[in-house]
Order: sequence, then C-alpha cells, then structure tokens
Amino acid sequence: SNGVANGAFYSVKHESLPKPNGKMLNCLHWFRRDLRLQDNPALSYATFIANQCQTHACAIYIISPEDMKLHDDAPIKIDFWMRNLKCLQQELDKLNIPLVIKTVPKRRDIPQVLLDFCDQHGISELTINHEYEVDEDARDKKVQRLFESKGKHVHGFHEQCVIQPGKLMTQSNKPYTVFTPFKRAWLSLVEVHKISPGQFADLQLAPKLEANDVKVRDSNSSFHTLFTDKSLTTIPDSVPGFEMPADLQKTAHQMYPAGEADAHSRLDNFVRDKVKLYDKKRSLPGEPYTSTLSPHFASGIISSRQCLQAAVKANNGKLSSGSDGIQSWIQEIIWRDFYRHVLVHYPKVCKNQPFRDEGNNIQWATYNEDEENEAFFAWCEGRTGYPIIDAGMRQMNATGWMHNRLRMATAMFLSKDLLINWQRGERYFMQCLIDGDLASNNGGWQWAASTGTDAQRYFRIFNPMLQSEKFDKSGDYIRRWVPELKTIRGPAIHDPYHVLDRKAFEALNYPKPMVDHKFGRDRALQAYKAAMHAG
Ligand code: FAD
Repeated sequence: SNGVANGAFYSVKHESLPKPNGKMLNCLHWFRRDLRLQDNPALSYATFIANQCQTHACAIYIISPEDMKLHDDAPIKIDFWMRNLKCLQQELDKLNIPLVIKTVPKRRDIPQVLLDFCDQHGISELTINHEYEVDEDARDKKVQRLFESKGKHVHGFHEQCVIQPGKLMTQSNKPYTVFTPFKRAWLSLVEVHKISPGQFADLQLAPKLEANDVKVRDSNSSFHTLFTDKSLTTIPDSVPGFEMPADLQKTAHQMYPAGEADAHSRLDNFVRDKVKLYDKKRSLPGEPYTSTLSPHFASGIISSRQCLQAAVKANNGKLSSGSDGIQSWIQEIIWRDFYRHVLVHYPKVCKNQPFRDEGNNIQWATYNEDEENEAFFAWCEGRTGYPIIDAGMRQMNATGWMHNRLRMATAMFLSKDLLINWQRGERYFMQCLIDGDLASNNGGWQWAASTGTDAQRYFRIFNPMLQSEKFDKSGDYIRRWVPELKTIRGPAIHDPYHVLDRKAFEALNYPKPMVDHKFGRDRALQAYKAAMHAG
C-alpha cells in the first residue's frame, strides 16, 4: 500500500498520550496559527491534562514584530490575527481559560520568555501544534530543549494537514514531488479509513473542551493574576509597524469578519450554494464561486479536516466519486497538503531556494536597477497595460485577496513576460495577502515560474489576452478593478491598446502594454531554455 497508513491522521486519542500524573502541574497552550477551539488537538490535550490532574489550563499568544517582519506578514493579516484573538479570548473565557498576550520584540528571546512565564505560574506542561517552516521548527526545538532541561514538557501535535507530512511516501519511501501521484495516494489513504461522515467525525474531531473550574485546586495563587491582571490579557488593536490604511481596514473588516463562527457559516454557505458548481466556475474571477476561506485556513481558524469533512458530507459520504464540483474542491485541499509536504521534505524552499536547482541558473532580464524597480512597481501597482493583470493586482492591493486564476497569471507575467526574479513577487504577495502562507505562496510562485515541483514545463507561458478572453469573457471583472476602462464595451476591454484607435486609447489615460507579449515570451523561452539545459 502507499506509505505508512497508521497514525497518518492526527486524532486525539488521549489514551495514547502521556498519562496525566501527579507531577504535572498547570498546563499552557501556545497559540500560533491554530486560532480556533474546535478540532484543536493541542488545546484539547491541555484541557485534558488540566481536568485530569485538577490543575489549571491557560493559553498564550506571542506577538513578535521581528518575526512578522522577517516573514513579510501583511498588515491586513496581522489585523485579522488580532481580531481573531479577541474572538478566541471571549470563547476561552467561557471555559475559564485565560488568554495571555505577550509582545516579544526579539524572536530569539521567545524560548526564555515562555520559560519564565511558566516558572512564574507553576506551569510544567506546554502544548503546541507543529509549524513546519524552517524558522518556526528551529524555534520550537529550542523551546523544547530549554523546557526539558528544566524538567518541563512540550507536547506537540499535527493539525495543519489532513495527512501529516512524512506519512505519505512513495513505494520506495521517497517524498512525492509530482502532484498527480500524490493526489492518488492521498485519496486512497483517506479512503482506506472508510470515511463516512459519522466515522469521519470520530476520527478527526477533538473531544469537546470541558469547562475548567479555576477554583478546583488553588495551591497556585499566582495563577489567579492571569484572570485579574488586565495588562496581561489585553489584545492590541494593531501592532506597531503594521498599521494599515483606514479604507483597506474597513474593507477587510467587512469582507472578513473574525471568529470561528463566521468561518463555519462561510463554509456552510459555500457547501450549500456553490461547491457543486465549483468545477465549472472556479476559474472565473468575476463570479465568486470559490470559498474565500483561505484567510481562515492560513491562520488556522478552520482546519482542513473540518472542511474536508463538510465536503464529504455534502457529497453523501463520497470522497473520490459523486459531485464533480465537490471532488474538484477536495483537490484544492489536497494541493494545500501537497505544498506543506513539499516544504517539510525540501526545507530549502523556505530559504529562498528554487525547488529545482536549475532555477538558480535563470538569467533574469538585464535591467539596470532603476529600470527593474520601475517595471516591478508597475506590476505591483497594476500599471502594466495588460487589463487582466492590472485588475488582479489591484484586487489584491485593495482587498488583500486575489482570485487563484489571476495569482497564476500575474505571477507568470512577472517571472516570464517581465523576466523578473519570481522571489520578488513572492515577497510582494506575502506583504499584501490576508491569506499569505509560505507553503502555498511559494508553491504557487514556483509553479508559475517553472522552478517548482511537478511536470510543469518552462515553455508554458500564459498569454494574458487569451486568459482574459477565456476567464473574464464579459470583461466585467476588469471593469470593476480598472476604472479607467469602465466605459469600454465589448471585447476591446481585453486589449484596448491594439483594438481601439490611438485617440480613443489616449483618452482612457491607461498605460500601454509595458512589454510586448511576444517579445517577452521569446526572451523568457531563451533564458529558461539556457538555464534548464545548463545545470
Ligand atoms: P478555494 O478555491 O475555495 O480553495 C479552498 C482552499 O484550498 C483554499 O482556501 C486554500 O487553502 C486551498 N487551496 C486552493 N488552491 C490552492 C493552491 N493552488 N495551492 C495551495 N492551496 C490551495 N493560497 C494561500 O492560502 N496563501 C497564499 O499565500 C497563496 N499564494 C499563492 C500564490 C500564487 C502565485 C498562486 C498561483 C496561488 C497561491 N495560493 C495561495 C493558492 C490559491 O490561489 C488560494 O489558496 C486561493 O485562491 C484562495 O481562495 P479560496 O479560499 O476561495 O480557494
């Protein structure tokens, strides 16, 4: 069979975890990108220990501006985190679990800050859900070493993927590097577990959180300060250095209300009204037929298991048959797992390395620095003169989210038509996206730039005009995001520079195409061909 079946799914079977014992003191759950109560194995375990040992549970969230800068986290994403923390805190309050907020300016201080906090409040057990990125993983290992040296314990859980990275390997025990066989193996492994909605719920859902009576064991009076000292639990509205323009904030709050409950109603509505047409409409940016759950996925407000469960349920318990729309949506959840598995097996992708070494040989266009910046900023701001590309970039700038079709098209335009190093674009996306996520963003960029996994050939270069005609046929998506072109009727919307007469074009006050597609395409083909055959 494919890889290791046993233990590939996380499930919180408390019997198989370290048994609570008299030596376990209070317990701390450290929230990171798992900002939810339900289906949260580490949080669940923390409350389990607390209940069994009659001790206390509390939770902490560490704000590390240095970390945020290092990872190019977008202000809109940080704002979303802060808003979600407030909802989380309210829900945790109902369970008598205080959520403490600590700002730690220097990321290297995090382990010591955690240790000091635990010492102060009689905490011996720390629970976390694993983060797979290189920096995060290194930080967690440091925390673990430090805690163990002081007789404390760190309990780590996997919850980010449906199938835990490392648990799905090829016959010869190698990581999958091509999506289609990964998908086949993924589906058969999930199928082996005979998932029907009922069984599935048993398999994945963490036990319900139980109320944690703080009065039970009051040996530790310092623990009470966590409830009474407001300065410990205040969640800031914003993080210095990550403020955002008021209009963007307003849009974000309208489009993306915080909280687990909102994420679930978004999921329910999507599954009820849209998912069945997903296969037909998912590529049309003008018709909102995707779930827009990516911000919630990326911050762990909802889990991939919960989404898979909802999809399977709506598909009468079927995983790889039934509704084409649902199967197609499940495939996106598999893509998400795929890129996380790739990141775990090839950590170089976290460190600015192309997945394929030949990617290092690409000779990017020789601009002088000013020219390159000018071209790059025109792309960033949506002034390329290609309406569909500009519409996509402007959608992202104005809302923190871009439709997948245009993420592909704009990424390809930068890395191929403009022949600018894709890593600049990858970074810019992170700085803008509310759903910015290293694994998916890097995977998407390397796909577009043909330096990544998969059998994707470098000579696949999207023609922006054809993309536009095919996926925004009416042009309404362009008109919405590029107001200069609002008055253009008919197909001229896709290529106003070549279709309209000179005077009409000039009246639009819209830039002419910054690079000729045929020229850009030929230049990219040459550069890529030389690189791919060089190494
Ligand atoms: P839906 O179509 O409803 O899909 C459901 C979920 O599946 C998504 O929320 C997402 O979690 C996952 N998913 C969908 N498509 C992909 C994919 N291609 N790769 C990995 N996961 C996927 N996604 C991010 O979450 N964060 C990013 O930073 C990100 N950057 C990208 C950059 C590029 C260049 C490209 C081509 C894609 C990127 N994606 C990223 C993937 C994808 O574009 C978004 O996940 C999707 O557009 C989100 O919209 P949705 O929630 O409506 O998706």
